[in-house]
Amino acid sequence: MLKALSARCSSHVAFGAHVRRYVPVGEPASPLLRRILGQNKRSLYIIRRFCSDSNDGSDPDDASTPVKSGDDAAESKSSSAIVPTLVRPEDCLTVVALPLSHRPLFPGFYMPVYVKDPKLLAALIESRKRQAPYTGAFLLKDEEGTDGSDSEKNIYNLKGKDLFNRLHEIGTLAQITSIQGDQVVLIGHRRLRITEMVSEDPLTVKVDHLKEIPYDKDDDILKATSFEVISTLRDVLKTSPLWRDHAQTYIQHVGDFTYPRVADFGAAISGANKQQCQQVLEELDVHKRLKLTLELVKKEMEISKIQESIAKAIEEKISGEQRRYLLNEQLKAIKKELGLETDDKTALSAKFRERLDPKKEKIPAHVLQVIEEELTKLQLLEASSSEFNVTRNYLDWLTALPWGEYSDENFDVLRAQEILDEDHYGLTDVKERILEFIAVGKLRGTSQGKIVCLSGPPGVGKTSIGRSIARALNRKFYRFSVGGLSDVAEIKGHRRTYIGAMPGKMVQCLKSVGTANPLVLIDEIDKLGRGHAGDPASAMLELLDPEQNANFLDHYLDVPIDLSKVLFVCTANVVEMIPNPLLDRMEVISIAGYITDEKMHIARDYLEKATREACGIKSEQVEVTDPALLALIENYCREAGVRNLQKQIEKIYRKIALQLVRQGGNMEPLNDGTQVQLGEDKAESGSLSNEAVVGAETSEKAVEAEIVDSPANQDDTLEAEKKEASKAAKKVEKVLVDSSNLLDFVGKPVFHAERIYERTPVGVVMGLAWTAMGGSTLYIETSQVEQGEGKGTLNLTGQLGDVMKESAQIAHTVARAIMLEKDPENQFFTNTKIHLHVPAGATPKDGPSAGCTMITSLLSLAMNKPVKKDLAMTGEVTLTRKILPIGGVKEKTIAARRSQVKSIVFPAANRRDFDELAANVKEGLDVHFVDDYSQIYDLAFDD
Ligand code: ADP
Repeated sequence: MLKALSARCSSHVAFGAHVRRYVPVGEPASPLLRRILGQNKRSLYIIRRFCSDSNDGSDPDDASTPVKSGDDAAESKSSSAIVPTLVRPEDCLTVVALPLSHRPLFPGFYMPVYVKDPKLLAALIESRKRQAPYTGAFLLKDEEGTDGSDSEKNIYNLKGKDLFNRLHEIGTLAQITSIQGDQVVLIGHRRLRITEMVSEDPLTVKVDHLKEIPYDKDDDILKATSFEVISTLRDVLKTSPLWRDHAQTYIQHVGDFTYPRVADFGAAISGANKQQCQQVLEELDVHKRLKLTLELVKKEMEISKIQESIAKAIEEKISGEQRRYLLNEQLKAIKKELGLETDDKTALSAKFRERLDPKKEKIPAHVLQVIEEELTKLQLLEASSSEFNVTRNYLDWLTALPWGEYSDENFDVLRAQEILDEDHYGLTDVKERILEFIAVGKLRGTSQGKIVCLSGPPGVGKTSIGRSIARALNRKFYRFSVGGLSDVAEIKGHRRTYIGAMPGKMVQCLKSVGTANPLVLIDEIDKLGRGHAGDPASAMLELLDPEQNANFLDHYLDVPIDLSKVLFVCTANVVEMIPNPLLDRMEVISIAGYITDEKMHIARDYLEKATREACGIKSEQVEVTDPALLALIENYCREAGVRNLQKQIEKIYRKIALQLVRQGGNMEPLNDGTQVQLGEDKAESGSLSNEAVVGAETSEKAVEAEIVDSPANQDDTLEAEKKEASKAAKKVEKVLVDSSNLLDFVGKPVFHAERIYERTPVGVVMGLAWTAMGGSTLYIETSQVEQGEGKGTLNLTGQLGDVMKESAQIAHTVARAIMLEKDPENQFFTNTKIHLHVPAGATPKDGPSAGCTMITSLLSLAMNKPVKKDLAMTGEVTLTRKILPIGGVKEKTIAARRSQVKSIVFPAANRRDFDELAANVKEGLDVHFVDDYSQIYDLAFDD
């Protein structure tokens, strides 16, 4: 814009440099001038004016007369480089008309004009030769209906009358200062008005010379307007050195800066269009002319202000960017020096790319695209911005996941079997199912993700078998518990926009295991919480369902991941508590719990071994006898699982360890982790009876050290001592745990026999129950409260649930009916108020399977006859005395065995469940299957 503006000005208003002849003068031409230029006196050099017309009409007397100033003319002759003229300008009353296409010519200004019309040019040359180098310069009017842009082209085609009609009436008398080729340089003198056409080619016209309307020099308004023009001009000039030059030259030319000259000057240097300039030219009223000019220069100032601010903004931007670039470069250099380069964005993306490159082929295209987008974004973000961190973390997760990375699966059934047996005793059916799974995988070539659900009481090895399966299949293992989980975000992740957002458990799992086909153990799936926002069960379903999880969408990750190759193993205590849609998709394998015999094996072969190693005790240093172990299992650890048994064994071994250390005094662990046992005096101290004395080797009291199993210590002194020691018998202490001293290790037994009665009294019958903790036996007791005509009612106690209360009512009714059948004379139920109680009142109990036990108990009371010895029963009874099947046959059988029950009554429909049990569980039991209560009656009361 600046360029355009200056180009515009310079093209229209030109000062002939060649005419300048600077003559220093003592005084500035006028105080106005000084004001415009803001100069002091001394620095002011002006060229003497050469314009003939300095008469601006300020002299009112002079107004009407033609211009006098012969001096001026003489001066102009002498001072200018132009051809001296013999003719005074004011004498030019007939002039050749020169059309101007761009702007009118203002008095005092130079203008170069290109004259293409040869005739016109010849006439101009001619007039110059004639020493009357004047012409009339008139602005061309725009052709009607055009914007005047074509005037340049057509200007030379206009001739004679046409041209005459297109000329503005008012123009300027111009002196021809030079002619070079077709370039004619003019300088404006005074205003003219065309009066008539004289000749056509070239167009010659008669003119009147115009003067400003006389005005009062001291008129305040005039002064004020003029000052305003000047001060505005000053502001404009300040911003542009170009105009400053214009001003100086002009002043040098026109001399006195009178009001009309100020107006002309302002209009001429303003960027106003030709119409506006012509308007100023035509205005002969000085005040009006000043006002017109003021408008133009004000506009000019606005433009220059805008121009300045644009220039400034651009400059600032450029310098700001440069500064920034420089600082950044410096920062980089500093970081490099300090070795902090790794924090750099480029280093960061390099790190991500490095991670990415090896697995690029395996990453799905859509994920790769997201990664690339994020990497680009990372480069654009400010390193200190929070979004940068979000993007960095996101990229970290995206690139760390094991896309398409699988561990080689083991399909070798034999090896798998070995591994499973190595870790767990028994559990044949569970192991069998796992081997089946591997076999299918082998035949198909791939193993598809499956959901296996291991259910059973605590401590039966659900979690550890999960770990074992992973080992057998050669898959990575990851475990997480969903017990009490209520936040869906734990499974599905948070959206990235939250502060501290994290992906869900599954994504965390994949990152930590580093393969896409791990075995994931989801613990406690039956204890899934209820979400306040979103349902964790449905989120779990999305995760587990083989139909859906090939495209599992984590909120944080925002790209689908394939979980179809993951093998899910869930654990639960109670299958019924698992949300149904989830249960539907699972393959449930239940682990019922262990009988004493199994526990013995587990304790001996697995728990003891592991604990011994964990405590750093060698097998020959300790012996836990079978009776001790049995007593431990029977009296301390009766629950279905073995976790408590494990704890007790650990307790025993810890005590043994302490004892061994105490005895030895300075036992030290050897390099290989085994220990030196010092075999001095057998510490029969305390309550511990360390009976066994192993080895008949000699030992000497002084030589207390005997290395057990450790050739590592070859110390000389020890060697010498050893020789001496060989004479004496050495005793290696061994801690023996027997049923007699078990108490010292594990304290008093927690359980007394579950059997309260050696033989159950009248009104008491043993039932079998099944809870989340496994199976157990329970007594149903009834007693008569009072008797009296029609007092037959039933009282219930013992924290019974609704189902059990109903069972009691049903039992009362059925027992009464049976009694009526068997012995119509017996009015017991009609006249007796009965109290039915189920002991262990602190534990809530519910379930229908105590029905038959209650009936039997009531009948026993009514007939005053105890039931058969060592009998336990279970089964739901209807009002028609039919026996309905029940759950937990294995658990109940195990519980019955624990309580030394000899005969059990089961519903007939449960026969198959029982038949499937292992032989050692069924061994020695007298089991009866019944489908009508009368059969139980016979079994219980028949002598
Ligand atoms: P759960 O998950 O069912 O509550 P765990 O898997 O934690 O039980 O098992 C408790 C402990 O019992 C573990 O140390 C496990 O090794 C051991 N255990 C359970 N069952 C067996 C078994 N059949 N053979 C060997 N050890 C077992």
